[in-house]
Amino acid sequence: MVEQKTLQCDVLVAGGGPAGVAAALAAARSGARVVLCQDRPVLGGNASSEVRMHIVGADCSGRRGVPLATETREGGIIEEIRLETAVRNPQRSASMLDLILYEKCRAEPNLTLLLDTAVTGAEVDGERIVAAWADRHSTEDRFCIEAAVFIDCTGDGRLGVEAGAPFRHGREGKDEFGESLAVAEADRKTLGSTLLFQARKHDRPMPFKAPPWARKFTEEDLKFRPHATAGVDRGLEYGYWWVEWGGTLDTVKDNAAIRDELLAIMLGVWDHIKNGGDHGAENWALEWFGFLPGKRESRRFIGHYTLREQDLIESRPFEDAIAYGGWPIDLHPPEGIDAPGERPARQVQLEYLYDIPLRACVARYPVNLMFAGRNISATHVAFGSTRVMATCAAVGQGVGTAAAVAVSEGVTPCELLTRPDLIREVQQRLLRDDAYLIGHVNRDPADVARRARVRASSEQPEGEAANILSGQTRSTHGPLGAPPSRTVPGTHRWMSDPARGLPAWIELEWETPVCPREIRLVFDTGLHRVLTLSHSDAFVQRMVWGRPQPETVADYVIEARAADGRWEKLVEVEGNYQRLRVHRLEKPVATTCLRITCLATQGIDHARVCEVRVYE
Ligand SMILES: Cc1cc2nc3c(=O)[nH]c(=O)nc-3n(C[C@H](O)[C@H](O)[C@H](O)COP(=O)(O)OP(=O)(O)OC[C@H]3O[C@@H](n4cnc5c(N)ncnc54)[C@H](O)[C@@H]3O)c2cc1C
Repeated sequence: MVEQKTLQCDVLVAGGGPAGVAAALAAARSGARVVLCQDRPVLGGNASSEVRMHIVGADCSGRRGVPLATETREGGIIEEIRLETAVRNPQRSASMLDLILYEKCRAEPNLTLLLDTAVTGAEVDGERIVAAWADRHSTEDRFCIEAAVFIDCTGDGRLGVEAGAPFRHGREGKDEFGESLAVAEADRKTLGSTLLFQARKHDRPMPFKAPPWARKFTEEDLKFRPHATAGVDRGLEYGYWWVEWGGTLDTVKDNAAIRDELLAIMLGVWDHIKNGGDHGAENWALEWFGFLPGKRESRRFIGHYTLREQDLIESRPFEDAIAYGGWPIDLHPPEGIDAPGERPARQVQLEYLYDIPLRACVARYPVNLMFAGRNISATHVAFGSTRVMATCAAVGQGVGTAAAVAVSEGVTPCELLTRPDLIREVQQRLLRDDAYLIGHVNRDPADVARRARVRASSEQPEGEAANILSGQTRSTHGPLGAPPSRTVPGTHRWMSDPARGLPAWIELEWETPVCPREIRLVFDTGLHRVLTLSHSDAFVQRMVWGRPQPETVADYVIEARAADGRWEKLVEVEGNYQRLRVHRLEKPVATTCLRITCLATQGIDHARVCEVRVYE
């Protein structure tokens, strides 16, 4: 029997992909009571074990980090997840990422996670959504979820559509936004969907017999789609993003037909590799393959601003930036593999990182609807870059934080857009939580570290102690980083002198006593390098995987100097591998000096600290 249950919260997040998880965690950590509904049994969307796509982002898989070590990998929640996965999942199990996302959500007291629960309806009163309906078939429950703010992270935009929010579908014509990469005439075509696979090499030949309905491919059909080469023992362990199809259909209404055809295509490609000539694949066999199409594109909502090609190419500044992107504009033929004469992707590199404004994540109608992920307000061309998962997660963190601020201030997201003071509050919270926003620096009046004097046991010329208070926590200057006019050059971190060895310490001193309740530290985790769970062996060889990043401070203590000059130990940490560490002190002590002593790192020969914040 279906039972109806009413839940009340501040923020409902529909969809638990990279955007939804980050939005829910950010809102919950910012004090909002959050319900996260995910229609399937695991979180992660296209990165989950059901699809297995690797998360990439603005750093262009490390390309922006060469040659100047420009640090463009996303910080904040997605960095926390990446670091956790790199350390706890050396085996690169897809299910471990599901588990880490699940654990992160379960660990938040403000967050109620409803798995297997699909949002299927919305109740709108005037200009506001008052409740969403969600169904959990496994328990025969129907939830009525009342909230102040609703965030649609479903990819397909189901919640917003049910609430009557306007959206775009397909490709804009050149005339509409004046985009050079747009098609001449608008159409309803999108990027297609994909089924990935994993394969394993055995110590004996492994036969493969394709089902009779599998498609047949020749070498000519796949001439622009690199797969396997005869005589080269090239890894076949991870399938092909270009097994893409369905962009000329409706990726929502035709999803089941697209799945069936993709199975025929994916198995047909494998049949070609195994049985269609010598591909060096004799001992290889399929280990896993998806049944759930990884969907690239469907609806895109219409917000208060539509992000477009020129914003990305010129890196136009937005005063309401809540995230940044940097992946190339990555467009594919909608026909996918049925366009054998075309390359499967055209990637237009972007010179600089670019802003993503909050206005592109707030619906014009209803006034309390926000969105994050691949359904934000962007043209098809701009979406070609914003769609990658670390960018989706950065937007998710921005939107979740903005939703929490809207709730605590008693305004709708639409009203929030008209309040520069609240937008600045959102941006400052994001910086505090280790998100990066181009050109923004710490101006948090509550952070008493900003008025401290700093000195260290030793420092390098490029890594002065004072850098921990520069307000910026990474180096983004140089080619491929932030636009030169919007960033301050420098490493923005303290680096102790390797010749003096470890331990190394850094002190913050005040003229009058402070009473810290919370100390926040940001460490270096090698943001210039690529880091992501991937099932491609070649890709993983470019990363530090299966262990902490070598730049990170592993063991440290924080001490406070009492009035009588004695040092009291407040915090002791061993084996740290995270970038942001937040220490809440149970018993605040009055002090005029805090000292952070770095005892060991995860590999390098000196200590690095990017930022210290102190809150009373
Ligand atoms: C084959 C393929 C290759 C790609 N390559 C890359 C790549 O290499 N790197 C990269 O970063 N990005 C890549 N992308 C793009 C990227 O995967 C997507 O743009 C990204 O996943 C979007 O994130 P999202 O959170 O918005 O949506 P999704 O990942 O689609 O997540 C949406 C979530 O919402 C849930 N949901 C849907 N409807 C409902 C509902 N009604 N109620 C509750 N929950 C619901 C879904 O189960 C899903 O978990 C690729 C995409 C595909 C398909």
